[in-house]
Amino acid sequence: MTKNIDWGNLGFGYTDLPYRAVCEYKNGKWGEMQLSEDPYVRISECAGVLQYSQSCFEGLKAYTTQDGRIVTFRPDLNAERMYNSCKRLEIPAVTPEMFMEALDRVVKANIEYVPPFGSGATLYVRPYVFGSGAVIGVAPADEYIFRMICMPVGPYYKGGAKPIKVKISDFDRAAPRGTGDIKAGLNYAMSLYASVHAHAEGYAENIYLDPATRTKIEEAGGANVIFVTKDGTVVTPKSDSILPSVTRRSIMYVAEHILGMKTEQREVTLAEVPDFVECGLCGTAAVISPVGIIDNHGEDIVFPSGMEHPGPVIQKLYDTLTGIQSGRIEAPEGWLHEIKAD
Ligand SMILES: *Cc1c(COP(=O)(O)O)cnc(C)c1O
Repeated sequence: MTKNIDWGNLGFGYTDLPYRAVCEYKNGKWGEMQLSEDPYVRISECAGVLQYSQSCFEGLKAYTTQDGRIVTFRPDLNAERMYNSCKRLEIPAVTPEMFMEALDRVVKANIEYVPPFGSGATLYVRPYVFGSGAVIGVAPADEYIFRMICMPVGPYYKGGAKPIKVKISDFDRAAPRGTGDIKAGLNYAMSLYASVHAHAEGYAENIYLDPATRTKIEEAGGANVIFVTKDGTVVTPKSDSILPSVTRRSIMYVAEHILGMKTEQREVTLAEVPDFVECGLCGTAAVISPVGIIDNHGEDIVFPSGMEHPGPVIQKLYDTLTGIQSGRIEAPEGWLHEIKAD
């Protein structure tokens, strides 16, 4: 039985649901996956995560489709990305098999909290892994905890997507050959200062440039960027320090293979941004946030789509991708992973 919750008015915040999946790494191996009712974690005061930020995470959603199935969207890509994040941080890898087992079990255990179709709400799933063993000399920890928690969250935009105003940041997000392409907690710790200050100045997000030359667009703090050219080509920046967003990769696929549009993944210079007609930020939370204005150091780049409505191409991409996610439009093979209640 689905819980009786005012789904439409939920925000994006933590709630401790009855169950979480937990797996511990000790003595050189991962133990058995368990479901736990304990929302607290007890670790050493000298844990690797507390001293040297050895942690990474993922984010995905479970929701109810139009025909009543409970699904997650391309979780194999989240599992693969977490595996890659672990490798880069010297965390014993959370395997895709562990990831999928935790996902199926934690959603099933909390199934009453999966919001119904049409509510706009979703069950947000947060997998994460961190060094729990004590370290004081700089080194990887010898013990780790993998947890997967979930919580119902409200619709990102109540009453349709509204264009946002963003700024070109003076701070850098990720160095070339650094950790920009993995979902490490440390990438977020160091972005908080820039994001708090941008919000205080009235911007919804920062857009970061490539630190080496500060001439090319990289991405936002937690979302990849797409642009639309005058002739309707969908363009996304190419760089080794961009986090490979599942949403952005899906949007580029949808544009090319379902909508028959031209797509390009290539370097995008800041200088050419005023030539684009639409812009959007892609991530699991909002799917696509249309961008109306980019402030480049006091000079506003205003996209022709304006601040009232998303541009037509962004709107079409949004409708098609959310249509696939909700089961209204047939999904490419393997995109929807169904979670079957017992
Ligand atoms: C998580 C994240 C994204 C969005 O990725 P999705 O898989 O689409 O949710 C984009 N950029 C950064 C830096 C991220 O951490």
